[in-house]
Order: sequence, then structure tokens, then C-alpha cells
Amino acid sequence: MQERIPAVSLFGVRVHAVSMDEAIRYILRFVQESVPRQVVTADSSMVVMAQSDSGLRDIINRAHLVTPDSIGILWACRRRGIAMPERVSGVDIVARLAQVSAQTGLRLYFLGAQPGVADEAARRLRQLFPGVQIVGCHHGYFAPEAEAEVVTQIREARPDVLCVAMGIPKQEKWIDRYRHVLGVPVSIGVGGTFDVLSGRVRRAPLCLQRMGMEWLWRVAHNPRKFSKVLLLPRFAWMILTHQKAIEVVCDE
Ligand code: UDP
Repeated sequence: MQERIPAVSLFGVRVHAVSMDEAIRYILRFVQESVPRQVVTADSSMVVMAQSDSGLRDIINRAHLVTPDSIGILWACRRRGIAMPERVSGVDIVARLAQVSAQTGLRLYFLGAQPGVADEAARRLRQLFPGVQIVGCHHGYFAPEAEAEVVTQIREARPDVLCVAMGIPKQEKWIDRYRHVLGVPVSIGVGGTFDVLSGRVRRAPLCLQRMGMEWLWRVAHNPRKFSKVLLLPRFAWMILTHQKAIEVVCDE
């Protein structure tokens, strides 16, 4: 990237201080530059996971854009006197890209979630944004032996942006592994986005999102998420006891 994006390091994990509009602008510029790039949507659980998973940490720190995808990250920065513009989540990025696609023909590919879920998300987006170019969908439960075939399908669909929803850290590692052979300018890890866009999982009410309580809503609707939620008190403890581990950095 030519231009330096202001960033914050949280416990060695670099997150860019971008608004949604800026994130979309960077993504569209990456598409034009056509060099395979990785975008990460970082939430509090990812910061905790990256403390014990140096592979994940390296991938995040090498990524070309890392958006602040949780109120926890905004809160941690604010406590240190650093203003992050706003939350930039995977769901909102995909919805915005779908809107842009309907206007410009930007080609999107959806990889991840249970069979049928990405297709249903695509169907709903086509209703919302007629003309949106979702050029392919594939579920995220394929065997390692099928990976080459999945890569071929994506390559042949020639998307501009690949949205990968296989959960943290699987999606980040998958993108890092295949980015250079996919022939796709931008690959983004987007977590549970297709579950939400397909209507399979309802998003938390806005008031809960604003209070930073979306996690509570998610656990109530999906108890399997409990183990991930256990990382949140750890994140809060890390922030409260090691404030100096948060600092402003500048992306190279
Ligand atoms: N998933 C997948 N393949 C896997 C494991 C998970 O496609 O091997 C999907 C899962 O169905 C869900 C998404 O990845 O749609 C993970 O959603 P979650 O909200 O847990 O994402 P995270 O909180 O990790 O960002």
C-alpha cells in the first residue's frame, strides 16, 4: 500500500483506524490495483486468540487492511485516549459491497457457512440490490482433499472480492494459504456474515450492538458460541490491567 493507514497496536495485533467509508474505498482501490490482498475484520476474540497463536498474529499483522469489528476494540482504544472512527464489521462490509456491486458490476464470491446458507444470503442480496454480481457461492464444510477443487471453482468465477465466512482463525489461515493462487484481488474474512444475511441468525437489536452486548445475544441464540464468549472477559482483563499494551502505530 502506498499510503500509510493510521493504526493501533493492541497487544501486538495491528488494527487500522478506518471508518466504513474509508474501508470500502481501500477495498475498491485494492480491486483496481489487482494484487492479491487480504482484509481482516478483527474483533476482541481475535486479539485474545492471537496471543497464543503466533501464526494468526503474523497473518493479521501482514494483512493489507484490518478493520475494527467490535465495540470491545473501540472501548479499549478509547480508554487509552485513542479514537477509532467506528465499528467496521464483516456483515456491514459485505452489504456495502453488494450495494456497490449493483451499481458498478463489482464481482463477489461467497465462500463459507453451512450448505445453502451462502446461496440464501446471495438470494436475499439480489432482492435488496437488483443487479448485484454474486458470481459464485460455496459452503465452508469441505474436506482438505476438496480444497483444490474449491480453489479452481473460485478462480474460474473470476471474482473481484472473495468473502470467506469460515470463522476465526480458519478463514484468515485459509485466505493466507491460497491468496496467491486464487487470482482474486481482495479476500476478506467475514465470520458469521452469511448466517446473518441469509436470515438464519438474527442480528442483535441495534441498542444491544451499541451497548457492546451483541455477544450476549449471540450466545443466547447459539450456545455453541459460549467458548468464544469466554475469551471476552479475558480481553477486558487484559485491557484493564495492561493499558500500555495499546499504542498508536503507523502502517508501513
Ligand atoms: N464455518 C464454516 N466452516 C467451518 C467452520 C465454520 O463454514 O469449518 C462457518 C459457520 O457455519 C459460520 C461461520 O463459519 O457460518 C462462523 O461464524 P461465527 O459467527 O462463529 O464467526 P466468528 O465469530 O468466528 O467470526
